[in-house]
Amino acid sequence: MNQKNNRKFLNRRKKLVEKIRKKGISDESVLQAIESIPRHLFIDSALENRAYEDSALPISCGQTISQPYTVAAQTELLDVSTGDKILEIGTGSGYQAAILCYLGCDVYSVERHEPLYLSARHILRDLGFRPHLKCGDGSLGWSAYAPYDGIVVTAGAPVVPEDLIKQLAVGGTLIVPVGDQKVQTMTQITRVSKEEFEEKQLRQFKFVPLIGKKGWD
Ligand code: SAM
Repeated sequence: MNQKNNRKFLNRRKKLVEKIRKKGISDESVLQAIESIPRHLFIDSALENRAYEDSALPISCGQTISQPYTVAAQTELLDVSTGDKILEIGTGSGYQAAILCYLGCDVYSVERHEPLYLSARHILRDLGFRPHLKCGDGSLGWSAYAPYDGIVVTAGAPVVPEDLIKQLAVGGTLIVPVGDQKVQTMTQITRVSKEEFEEKQLRQFKFVPLIGKKGWD
């Protein structure tokens, strides 16, 4: 990552990391990524002073940049290794994609709103990251590059999108919040063999809805 802007707000990022650690995140590589990625660059400069609060913040198109704890929790559950091919559904600001790039993943990310896709592309390039980004309906996944070692959905789905399950490599993990439009249960699905999957329901979160053919109308 380019070092430009990386020192600004470093102390606030360190405090944020301690807060997230106390909430239960223990993966040191994830905490290091949160400390290193300048979240203030992914939001409107008018909100810069709130960038290191542990809260979701508005971005354009009526969407949100996820709460840092949520980004850390989803990343920890994905349990990535350097070189893993990871699909993210819901690029939004590009912050989660930056965290995954920082961790050495080969990142594919899909966003349905073109202005968000364009601004995330700009910010990520400026930071020196090179994820593969696409504007489209991520509820269908991104079959051209499947299978993926991990898939993370950063919007709430009514059911587990079947296309995403199909695009998971054997040994891969899908992290998807599933529920109604008010509250969702974080769901972890691991593909243990071609036909076998293990599913775990974790704690509840609140995401903006996954809108699309295999999401909400
Ligand atoms: N990962 C994002 C970040 O770091 O800023 C979080 C963004 S927000 C919580 C969820 C995003 O999912 C929104 O930008 C929304 O437009 C997007 N989204 C919703 N449905 C989608 C779909 N079917 N395909 C792609 N993106 C979708």
